[in-house]
Formats: sequence, structure tokens, C-alpha cells
Amino acid sequence: MNLTNYHSHCLYCDGRADMETFVRFAISNGFTSYGVSSHAPLPFPTPWTMEWDRMDDYLSEFHRIKEKYVDQIEFYVGLEIDYLDDNSNPSISRFRELPLDYRIGSVHMLRNEWGNIVDVDVSPEVFRKIVDEQFSRDLDRVIRLYYSQQFRMLELGGFDILGHADKMHYNSMCYRPGLLDEPWYENLMIDYFSKIARSGYMVEINSKAYHLYGTFFPNERYFPLLKELGIPVMVNSDAHMPEKINAGRPEALAALKRAGFDSVMELHEGKWQAVPIN
Ligand SMILES: [Zn+2]
Ligand SMILES: [Zn+2]
Repeated sequence: MNLTNYHSHCLYCDGRADMETFVRFAISNGFTSYGVSSHAPLPFPTPWTMEWDRMDDYLSEFHRIKEKYVDQIEFYVGLEIDYLDDNSNPSISRFRELPLDYRIGSVHMLRNEWGNIVDVDVSPEVFRKIVDEQFSRDLDRVIRLYYSQQFRMLELGGFDILGHADKMHYNSMCYRPGLLDEPWYENLMIDYFSKIARSGYMVEINSKAYHLYGTFFPNERYFPLLKELGIPVMVNSDAHMPEKINAGRPEALAALKRAGFDSVMELHEGKWQAVPIN
């Protein structure tokens, strides 16, 4: 049934329950393989990222739970690591040296006109204010900046799974309906996914917002392109609450099938494997 999930937050970052509760939910929902991926530390504290002084606890808590439920589920540990700039991103040695099973690379933040860091992974209303007040209403510039961060992260590496590849598209579409049909944006997406394919990353189909916004990240319109480019995919719910671990998964798997995919990547016995979609 492809009941797996590798993008999940808990109390070590901004998740709403402890690690063990997520695992118990996963077991009771029939999941076979599950991973936690707290937001990795940034060079400054935030309400949504882990701090470095919690890393040892995160890893030992993982090992305790993994052992406790070893007969019921395969449990793995990862991190969702931000590309902030060349000094803080998945490629730096501090992250590479951690004993993790996998790493998710994501972009949530940009620098505004004055060089200040701005979180653009926000609601459409807040995003509109940010574009208007901090980027002189220049949506194109914000989009290009976002994807230039993504391109740089792809170049530097240090991660296995690209997190919510085009997440900003939803907020950008709210700002300017029709954006996804604009030729320059379409070409940008073709360049972007081609680069991802050449670099050999897996791409998650992030189903977190499907029931809220009716879209996956990346948007379903790119699924045939991902298939054509031979990009390996998996469905992740990016759950912050245990009851959301399966949110949007059946819909995402059905959408992948419609696009011609017949398998998704799952972690079994410590190795990523292509498993047929049931
Ligand atoms: Zn994220
Ligand atoms: Zn996340």
C-alpha cells in the first residue's frame, strides 16, 4: 500500500507531538517504513528549527524508539536542512558528519532588498505583504531569487531528497493567477527539473497542503515531466501532527499513476528501493 513517510516533524522542531507518538500512529495506520526529519539548526534561533544543543538528544531518542518498535516498523532518522546561503546548507561538513539515514534539502527563506532574511514559507496573505513591502511588488524577482537558491542548493549537494520543490508556486499563483501558464515560468521549471534529474536527486511529492489548497508540491502539472526525466519520486506528507501522517497520500499516488509512474522510492533495510505503486 506504499504506506511510508520520510518528511515529518516532532517536538524537536515545530511538530506538535513527540517522536514516539508519530511512530505509534504510523504503526497503527499500517505504515511499514517511517522517518523523522526535524528542521535542522540554522545559524540563529527560530521557533521552528532545532538547536544544535538538542541534536544528541534527537539522535538518542531516535535510537531508543527504533529499538523499541523494531518488530513493528522500520524507523529512520533524517533532517530537513535549509539552504540559507553558502555557509548554511546541506553541503556543510557539520551536517554531512551527522549519522543520519537521509537528508531533505529545502528552501524556506530569502534575503530582501536590505539583505535581511525573510521567511517566504508563509500564508498567501503574508506572502503578498512581503512581496509588496520588502521586494517592491516585484514578484518575478522573488520567484527568480527563490529558484536561484534552489539551483545553488542542487549544485552544492549534501542531501538525498528535494523538499517541496516548488512550494512558493502556490503563494505566487495567489499573487498573480495564471503564473504557471506564463512561458518564462514554464521554461524555468523545465530547466529546474532537468537540473534535478541530471544531479540524481529524489523528489518528494509533498502532500501536506493537498486538502487545504488542492495542490501538491511540486504541482501535479509537472508529474509527466518528472516521469519523462526519470526522476525518482516518493510521497511525503510533511506531517506536523500525528493524525496528518497519511494526508493526501492516496491522492498523490493516484496522480503519480495518472502521470505514468509505476513505482515510488521507499527505504527498506537501509536502502532506497523503487517499490511498485499498489
Ligand atoms: Zn519545509
Ligand atoms: Zn517540513
